[in-house]
Order: sequence, then structure tokens, then C-alpha cells
Amino acid sequence: MLTKVIEQAKIDHFSKWFERADKIVIVSHVSPDGDAIGSSLGLYHFLDSQEKTVNVIVPNAFPDFLRWMPGSKDILLYDRYKDFADKLIAEADVICCLDFNALKRIDDMADAVVASPARKIMIDHHLYPEDFCKIVMSYPKISSTSELIFRLICRMGYFSDITKEGAECIYTGMMTDTGGFTYNSNNREIYFIISELLSKGIDKDDIYRKVYNTYSESRLRLMGYVLSNMTVYPDCNSALITLTKAEQSKFNYIKGDSEGFVNIPLSIKNVCFSCFLREDTEKPMIKISLRSVGTFPCNQLAAEFFNGGGHLNASGGEFFGTMEEAKAVFEKALEKYKPLLTAKS
Ligand code: 5GP
Ligand code: MN
Repeated sequence: MLTKVIEQAKIDHFSKWFERADKIVIVSHVSPDGDAIGSSLGLYHFLDSQEKTVNVIVPNAFPDFLRWMPGSKDILLYDRYKDFADKLIAEADVICCLDFNALKRIDDMADAVVASPARKIMIDHHLYPEDFCKIVMSYPKISSTSELIFRLICRMGYFSDITKEGAECIYTGMMTDTGGFTYNSNNREIYFIISELLSKGIDKDDIYRKVYNTYSESRLRLMGYVLSNMTVYPDCNSALITLTKAEQSKFNYIKGDSEGFVNIPLSIKNVCFSCFLREDTEKPMIKISLRSVGTFPCNQLAAEFFNGGGHLNASGGEFFGTMEEAKAVFEKALEKYKPLLTAKS
């Protein structure tokens, strides 16, 4: 049995909207990851099975390794089909905001979502939800939004209507937001849910291979290159990897190719904090990815130095300036956080 994480009043409230709604739009965050796409499509398959008119809209493209997901071809990219997406958002009865807590996380879509008269619900697991949705299902202790989608559908009484396709999407989000169940994954209920998803006929081992083992040769060579240039800061138990635009073109970089790189330095003994600085291909900025193991709060460092945020162990931000400048800011941040980084836990 699962704990009732979502308050009953919120389930009842959403159930009322759900009964009356026909047109439902699901939106998720910029540079969608496995949980953004997994939770969106998990909910999409459920709503579709209930004869609703459902559309999933995300701000921009998602990585190739998520393209196998059932329903992914129907996802609308806002940066390519803005007018059509604006119309769907404006005419929706209900908008479900998944896997993000702040309007700036949906970029240019924010204006349309705010302006829409639709009823809005947030289903998310990031700290400090902003106040732009009437129903807020925000549970930072839950390791993925996809898990919340499973819990929501079950609590509404529709477990039997979850299809194999829907279960595959939910599983993918749960898997990717926990690094294949290697972090934030000690809650035993996760494994109860997996067991329920397996009862729908999913092949979890195949999903793992499709997500993690279908990369290109050049991606692996890029990984080798990035790691060979890694800087380790033994005094701070930290490591830094970087990737410029010039280096990206040398390795025929495509979106998603550097996914997971930031985790690799954490496999060095004693390294508990890792930073990845990557020049963005779309905007003139450097994208920051931070990961930690244990209690080091990378979200605090992200907020203080990189105008970002996120989870304790996985966060990010943005930097407008050169790679050298970003690296200098990172080293300044290391100095400041050295006591925490070297504290014995
Ligand atoms: P990633 O390193 O995978 O891009 O991001 C990891 C996590 O950090 C995301 O799930 C999200 O919670 C957070 N994050 C990433 N980029 C930003 C950002 O620019 N601003 C904020 N507030 N959070 C971010
Ligand atoms: Mn997530």
C-alpha cells in the first residue's frame, strides 16, 4: 500500500475539474528531461484513455534518447509552433503544469499560460513553488513528478486504466530523475510502484537500454574529451568539467549528448560536488549543472552564484559571460563553500 502523499482535498478538487474538462493542456519545463517528458506523457496517456482532448506542449526540443517514448511524436514544441500552441493554451479548460515550480522555467510560454483563463494545476517536486496555479501539488520529498502522476491517477481511482504505454512513460521519469535508482531512491514505496508498473507489462531493462545505451559514437568520444580536460579540486572535494561551443561543433554535438556528464566526476573517491559548464547553443549564455552526494546543498550555491536553483543534490543555473568568467565564479563559490565541502558527515 502507498502512503497518501497528496492531500485528499486536492485530489477531490482536481477530480471535479477532470470530470468537467474536455480540453486539457499539459506543459513542462524548458530543455525537457526524462521526468518532464515521462510525467507529461504518463498523464497524457491516462487523460487520452478517458476521452479527453489532450495536448502536451514543451518550450523546446527534448533529447533523442526520449524519442522512443510512446506519444512523444505528438508533443508540440513551443518554439516551432508558437501560434498553434498559443491557441491551445488559450482555449484549454485545464492546464497541468508538470515538473516545474516557477514560470521562468517555461521561458516564452509563460505569458500564454498566465493569460489563459484555464484552471491551472501544478504537479511538481521542486522546492518553493510559485503561486500561479489554483491547485498546487508540490512534494519536494518525492523523487520524481512521474511518481506523483502515478500516485494521482491511483488516488483518483483509475489504476486499472493505466496502459502499458502510460506505465512506460511513468517508469522512465522515475528512473531518470533518480539516475537509474542510484540517488533519491531509498523510499521503499518507489519499488512498490515499480512493481505495479511491471504488472502493466513494461520491460524495465529494455527502457534502461533505450534511455542510457543508445548514444552515438561521437557522444562517447566527446565524453572522453571532456573528462580528459576535467579539473579536480582535492582541497574542496570537488571537480569541474566544461564544454565550449567550438568543442561541441568539433564533436558534432546534438542536444542531449552531454546528458549525464555532470554525474561522472562524482565517481572519483572523495569528490562530493561536481560542476558542468556548457556554452548554450541557443542562447548567449553558459548553462550550469551542479550535482552533489550527501548533504552538500548545490541548490543554495546555484541560487547564490548562478541565479538558479533546484534540488539539494541536483541543481542548475545560468551565467551570462565567458567560460573563463564562469569558471572564476565557480572557483569563488568553492572558496566560500569550502567549509561545507570539507565537513566530515
Ligand atoms: P540539469 O543539471 O539536469 O540541467 O538540472 C538539474 C536540476 O536543476 C533541474 O531538475 C532543475 O531543478 C534545476 N535547474 C536547472 N537549471 C536551472 C535554472 O536555470 N534555474 C533553476 N531555478 N533551476 C534549475
Ligand atoms: Mn523532475
